[in-house]
Amino acid sequence: MAIRKRIADACARARRDPSTVKLIAVTKNRSIEEIREVALAGVLELGENRVQEAAVKHKELSNIKWHMVGHLQTNKAKEAVKIFDLIHSVDSLRLANEINKEAQKLGKIQDILLEVKISPEATKFGLRTEETAEVMGKVSGLKNIKINGLMGIAPLVSNPEETRPYFALLRNLRDKIDSRLILSMGMTDDFEVAIEEGADMVRIGRAIFGGLR
Ligand SMILES: *Cc1c(COP(=O)(O)O)cnc(C)c1O
Repeated sequence: MAIRKRIADACARARRDPSTVKLIAVTKNRSIEEIREVALAGVLELGENRVQEAAVKHKELSNIKWHMVGHLQTNKAKEAVKIFDLIHSVDSLRLANEINKEAQKLGKIQDILLEVKISPEATKFGLRTEETAEVMGKVSGLKNIKINGLMGIAPLVSNPEETRPYFALLRNLRDKIDSRLILSMGMTDDFEVAIEEGADMVRIGRAIFGGLR
């Protein structure tokens, strides 16, 4: 797969071992057939941004780890906890509480990332950098949640190099809070820069499936 080569090249530039960067294929708006092809090529970690769509695909495909990468509404937490191995987009204590409650009912420890708003315009969602440590402190007290790390979305820019300071900001925040936390950052237009800045997971749609959707 061409994407693997691009990840390996970015790792080489950063003197990183490619096995430390996890590829998540973002399959929103993609058909089961398209997804099966990618799974056959060995990508077994898939990302979705809507719970309903993920629920349908979850039934059709086995042997997959599912990642929730899009904004999660509190009233969808129950369904999300049933489906997802990792929820990348926890952006409030209220949502974390709801996830914790639903996970407890299922006897599950839900892995999550806290989403941090690293750019003014990329998304309206995410914790402010200044409040992240405090919210993390509170969420880490919830018994049925395990915080794995932080997620961020860089702004849309014309030159991917311009995303570097945003990814560096998330990495620095992580280093300040707890260096063991992982970083989910980087998409089709900017994943190479994200890897150079320390991404542990990249979430990629268009560079795998092609097209603009
Ligand atoms: C759609 C989406 C992606 C993948 O986007 P591409 O630009 O197609 O790689 C990654 N992360 C999130 C949160 C998304 O919604």
